[in-house]
Order: sequence, then structure tokens, then C-alpha cells
Amino acid sequence: MDKVILARIGEIALKGLNRSTFEQRLARNMKAAMGGCGDCYVRWSQSRYYVEPRCDDFDFDRALEMLKGVFGLVSVSPAFVTESEMSHISGLAIECAGRKISELKGRGMTDISFKVETKRGLKTFPLTSLQVSSEIGGQISDAFPELKVDVNDPDFILYIEVRENTYVYTDIYEAPGGMPTGSNGKACLLISGGIDSPVAGYMIAKRGVSICAVHFYSYPYTSERAKDKVIELTKTVGRYCGGIKLLVVPYTEVQLAIQEHCREELSTVIMRRSMMRIAERCARKYGCSALVTGESVGQVASQTMQALYCTDEAATMPVFRPLIGMDKMEVVEIARKIGTFEMSILPYEDCCTVFTPKHPKTRPSLKEVQAEELKADFPTLENAAFEGIEIIRA
Ligand code: ATP
Ligand code: MG
Repeated sequence: MDKVILARIGEIALKGLNRSTFEQRLARNMKAAMGGCGDCYVRWSQSRYYVEPRCDDFDFDRALEMLKGVFGLVSVSPAFVTESEMSHISGLAIECAGRKISELKGRGMTDISFKVETKRGLKTFPLTSLQVSSEIGGQISDAFPELKVDVNDPDFILYIEVRENTYVYTDIYEAPGGMPTGSNGKACLLISGGIDSPVAGYMIAKRGVSICAVHFYSYPYTSERAKDKVIELTKTVGRYCGGIKLLVVPYTEVQLAIQEHCREELSTVIMRRSMMRIAERCARKYGCSALVTGESVGQVASQTMQALYCTDEAATMPVFRPLIGMDKMEVVEIARKIGTFEMSILPYEDCCTVFTPKHPKTRPSLKEVQAEELKADFPTLENAAFEGIEIIRA
């Protein structure tokens, strides 16, 4: 019995003339995601991808798991294939129903109900979809007399898609949607060890944007463990977007200078501006056309409208803030879903918390911040930090 994976697309289906570019990109990304699973062929037609194994030991379960994380896909199903001919379809449908019933019974379920749903893409097929559903439904009921039919709220649905070949399946798993990675340019993510920035990275990646990440590291005020945590977080986000190059900027000297020369109540905004300037240099060097942060309006003193205004002014590139209108709880929910939350809450200090002022000014004016910035030699300090960058392929 031949088995394939069906994968469905969402937004790409709305594309016009450039749709095939997205489709090809998605096929490549799917193949890359299934890299370690064995040889397979990815083909697509009519908003649907078919993953067909080309070797006996193809790792189906792993391939399915990997595809569940591929941007551009909205859902995936393991499916069995047969000829588009009623006798073949019913044999396969009964076998699939039998497997599903055993699975549900194994989970302790009794009084199992089902229904059949048919889609008919093959216009020359002699029966309508309703006729196929009722015919096959009847045969399944005959084969498993204890099974009930429930068209409103069945325990499982047996799906039949009659196309050139016919596909039969019972399970549909959610995939993330969005746009294929690499289809929308590249951005530079400012990643801290916190909850927000990895989520911001995931969200921008979901729109098809490739990512390069920058982390400001203030050793020994922040420990090796804090850096390892950021590497792990970057790796986790990178799993969704084909890997991320992480630039670790030695930031201690800049922070010490801010602490020594600038008014404490403005130190956070001054630091955020300096981070923007350095991140922008990194972005240019690595072909990025925007910066991305995990900021959200009003979350902390450095994220008031006035503070964000001051921060933004230091960058000439667009700064994207995917979390700008989100509550912390919404961010936490995504962090849990993408697997970064547990790592993010590990209690290692980051460079912001170490140097956080007691009473940061929530309404800094750009003028006073700029005046304060003249008190330290930021161009020299930032040059040195930029020159000392360590590159980690996370
Ligand atoms: P996060 O949870 O992402 O750390 P936060 O709510 O703690 O965010 P801040 O610490 O003020 O907020 O940081 C705001 C944003 O600035 C972060 O989301 C991140 O994009 C960037 N950022 C902060 N600290 C660093 C750092 N050490 N290295 C790189 N980027 C940073
Ligand atoms: Mg933080």
C-alpha cells in the first residue's frame, strides 16, 4: 500500500503571477526540513503538495513532524494512495477505518462514530462525491458493525480525495501557515535572553523573512551561561527558518561608559540607541534590510511611546516590532508553542537587568538624550564593539 504525505498551503494560494516562485521555494524548504528522513519526491498541483517516498526506509513520522513546522503550509496529513476506481477505494477505506478504530480503542474509546467526506477533483469519475461517501460509508459500516455513523460530531472522519489517484486519510495536523522562509528578504533580530525577542523572531520568520541575529553580551557582568542560553534560543528559532547566524557583540565597555558618564535615569534609552546603531551596522554587513525587536508598547520604561521614539531615531533602517500590540500573556502562549519559553525563563541575568537604573525616565525627550550621549565617545566605543563581534552559526 503506497503512503504519501499531503500538505496544504494557505496564503500562497492567493498569490497572482508570482505564485510559482513561492511554490518552488516552499517545495525546496519542505525538502530541506525533511533532510534526514530519506529520499523523497515533492510534487505539487492545485494548492496541494504530495510528498512521495523514494526509499523503503523513509522516516514518515519524522517527516510529518518536520513539515508541521514549515512556514507556508497550513496542514499536513499522512495518506494512503490507490487507483481511482471504486473497488480499490473501498478496500483501502475499510483498511484505513480499521487502523483508526484500533488506535481509538487503544486510547480506551468505546462507542466509536464516524463519517466519510469525499472530494472529487477528477471530473470523469462516474460517481458524485455524495455517492462515494454514502457507498463507502455503507461498506465500512458493514465491515465494522459496532461502528456508528454520526455526521454532526463523529469521533473520526475518513477523508477520500478522488483525483488522478485517490487519497484516503483520517488525520489532519495543523502547520503554522505564513510565507515560505526566504521568500521575503532578510532582517536582523536583536535577541536577548528574554521571552519576547525569540517570539518576535519567530513571527517575522513566519512571514518568509530570513534572519540574522545580534546579541549584546556584557561579560563578566553576564555569565557564559547567559550566552549559552541565547545560543540555544537562537537555535530553537532557527529551526523554523533554516538556521540563524548569531553575532555576539562584546558590549561591556559601552555599558560601563554609559554608567560612568550618562545620567542614570536616561541610561536605558541611551543603551537601546547604541544597540540600534551597532545592530544596523551588522544588518548592512549581512544583507538585512530591517531590524526586529521584541518591544511592546508600555511593557517597561524603555518601551513607552516617548522612549520608543528616541530608540527609533537612532536607526535609519525600518525597525519592525511584531509584538507591539500584544499582551505578555499572548507572547508567553506563542513562546510555549514554539518551544522557547522554558529556556527564556531560566534565571540568568542579561546585560539589561544588570545595568537597569532604579528610576528610568519614562518620558525622555530626544533632545536631552542626544545631549547626554555627547558625554561619552560612542563612535569609538561602538567601533570597538563591532570589531570584536564573535560569529556563531546557531
Ligand atoms: P525580551 O524579553 O526580548 O528580553 P524585554 O521585554 O525584556 O524583551 P528589553 O529588555 O527592554 O525588553 O528589550 C527590548 C528589546 O531589545 C528586546 O526584545 C530585544 O529585541 C532587544 N534587546 C534587549 N537586550 C538585548 C541584548 N542584550 N541583546 C540583543 N538585543 C537585546
Ligand atoms: Mg530583556
